[in-house]
Amino acid sequence: MTGALPIVQAVVSLSFLALGLSTVIDWLRRRERSIGYLALALGTLGLTSILGQLNPLTHYRLGTLIGDITLVLLMTSGYALLLFRDSFIPLSRQLRIGALILCVGTTAAALVVMVPVSPNVRPTTLQSAATIALVLVWTACVTEPIVRLWAASRGRPAVQRARLRALGGGYSAIVVILLVAVFSWLRRLWRQAEEDQLRDAVHDLVLFSPDRPTLAKRAADWGLRLVGADGIGIVDANGDILALRGLSDESARQLAAHAAGGGPPQLLATSGSARENAIVLPLPLDAGMGAMVLVSGPYTPFFGTDEVSRLRGYAANITAALDRARVTERLAALEKTKSQFLNLASHELRSPLGVINGYLSMLEQGVFGQLTESGVRALEVLKAKTVEMNLLVAQMLDAARLEDGRLALKRDRLDLRDIAQDAMEVVRPLAGADHQLSLEMPPRAVTVFGDVGRILTIISNLLENAIKYSPQGGTVLCVVSAAEHAASVSVVDTGIGIAREDLPRLFNRFERIQNVRTSHVAGTGLGLYLSRELARQHGGDIQVESRPGAGSRFTLTLPLAAPIAETEAPVVAEPEPPRLHVLTPDAESESQPA
Ligand code: ADP
Repeated sequence: MTGALPIVQAVVSLSFLALGLSTVIDWLRRRERSIGYLALALGTLGLTSILGQLNPLTHYRLGTLIGDITLVLLMTSGYALLLFRDSFIPLSRQLRIGALILCVGTTAAALVVMVPVSPNVRPTTLQSAATIALVLVWTACVTEPIVRLWAASRGRPAVQRARLRALGGGYSAIVVILLVAVFSWLRRLWRQAEEDQLRDAVHDLVLFSPDRPTLAKRAADWGLRLVGADGIGIVDANGDILALRGLSDESARQLAAHAAGGGPPQLLATSGSARENAIVLPLPLDAGMGAMVLVSGPYTPFFGTDEVSRLRGYAANITAALDRARVTERLAALEKTKSQFLNLASHELRSPLGVINGYLSMLEQGVFGQLTESGVRALEVLKAKTVEMNLLVAQMLDAARLEDGRLALKRDRLDLRDIAQDAMEVVRPLAGADHQLSLEMPPRAVTVFGDVGRILTIISNLLENAIKYSPQGGTVLCVVSAAEHAASVSVVDTGIGIAREDLPRLFNRFERIQNVRTSHVAGTGLGLYLSRELARQHGGDIQVESRPGAGSRFTLTLPLAAPIAETEAPVVAEPEPPRLHVLTPDAESESQPA
C-alpha cells in the first residue's frame, strides 16, 4: 500500500491534467460554455493534485505560497464543476451567487488563518475549522450535481437517462479521487501523531529516568502504547526482569530466550496462537544481551512488520538509555565511595596529626631541652611537612562534609586582616629561602561575618598554592582591602601561571592541571574546589587572573559586614618572625599532645 499509493496519485493527477488539456483544446475549437467549465474544472483539479504531491516530495520547502495556490485551485475546480452542471440543469440565481460567496468566503478564511500545508505543523482549532469548512463547501459543490443529475435522469428516455447518469458517475469519480487524497493526507497526519508519540517516548526515557528500574518501567509503558500491545517485559542481560506489565514472569523469560543470539527483531506465535502475536527485540547491552518482549491482546490480535519496524528504533534507544543509566549509577557509586574514603581517611589522620603537632610545638619551645643546629633544621622540615598534612586533612574533612551536607558555618564578626595574618603564619614554614612573603592591609578593620576556621582555610589554601606553584621562588603577596560593599583578599604570585584554556576547570573537584611545570608538585585537586565552595557559602567568591610564566592572582571576595571609613593607603606590615602556628584539621589554632 505504502509504495502503490503515490503511484496511483501520480497517475490520477496526470490523467486529470491530460483530460483538462484535451478539453481546453476542444473548448478552443467549439467555444461552448459547458466545455469551458469542464476544461477549467479538470485543469484546476489536475494542477491541485500535482501541487498537492509536489509539496510533500520537497519536504514542504516550497512554503505556503504553493499551499495557497493549491487551495484556490481546489475551490475553483469545485465551483467550475457546479457551473458545468448549471449548463445542463440550470441553477437558480440565488444558489449560484450563494455558492460563489461560500467558495470565495471559505477560501479567503483558509488563506487568512493560514491553514498549514505540512502535516508536521499542528493546526490550531481555527485552522482545523477553516479546513473542514473548505472541504465541506467543495464536497457540496461536487455532490450536489450527483444528486441533481440522478434525480433528473429518472423518468427520462433511455438515451438521456444514460447521459445524465454518466455525468453523475463522472462527478462521483471525482469525489472518490478526493477521498483518496484525503485518505493519504489523514495517513500522513496519523503517521505524524505516531512519530510525535515515539519522540515523546524517547525524550521521556532519555531525560527523566533517574535509574534503570524507573527507566525500564517507563520504557515498558511507552512500548505498550506505541503498538497497542497487551503485555510487555524488559529483561536484563543477566536474566533479571527489569519491567513487567500484563505478562507472567515465566512467559517473559521464555520469549526473551529467543533473543539470546541477538540479531534482528522476531515475530513469533506463542503456544496456542495461530498467528504471530509476539515480538521479541534483542537489546544488545554493554553487559550482554537483554530483551524486550511484547504480546498482543484483544484489540491488536496479531502483530505485523509495521509494529516491528516501529519498535526496532525504540529498542535501540532503550538499549542506549539503559547502558547510560548503568554508567550514571556506577559513577554515583564511585562518587559515594570517594566521599566515604575522604571522610574516613581524614578522621583517621586527625588524631595522629594532633599528637605530632603537639610534640612539634613542645620541641620548638625547648620542653625536651635545647636542640642542636641540625635538630633545628630537621624541626623546620618536619614543621613544613606537618603544615602540608594539616592543610590536606582540613581540605579532606571539609570536602567530605560538603558532600554530605554536614558543613555548618559559624557566623562571627571577624577582622579579615587578623585571619590573613594567621594564614601567613600557617604557610610560612612552607616557604623556601627564595620566597618573599608579604602582607598588605588597610589600617582599619575589614569586618566580615563568617567562620574563622573556614576563611583561614581558604586564604591558607591560596597562599599554599602561591608558594607551591612558584618553584623558583619569588614574591608571594597577600593584599587585604575593602571597597564599598565587599572585602577582598588577593594572593598574588610570580610563579608558573596558568594557561587560559585551563582556567575554567581549576575549581572542579579533584581537578589538577597536569603539565611539565606542575608535574613535580604534589596535590589532590581539592584545594581550589573547596575554597570556592566555602567562599560561596559565605556569600562570596574567588576569581582568578593568570598568565603562564608571569604568575597568578587569586582574589577572595566576601560581603563586608559594616561600612568602613575611606580606605587609606595600604601599609606593608612587617611579618613577624617565624613562629610555629599549626592548623589542626578542624581549624582550631593549636593542638596539645595526647
Ligand atoms: P592542588 O592540590 O593540585 O594544588 P588545587 O585545587 O589547589 O589543587 O589547584 C588546582 C590546580 O590549579 C593545581 O593543580 C594547579 O595546577 C593550579 N593552580 C592553583 N593555584 C595555582 C597558582 N597559584 N599558580 C599556578 N597554578 C595554580
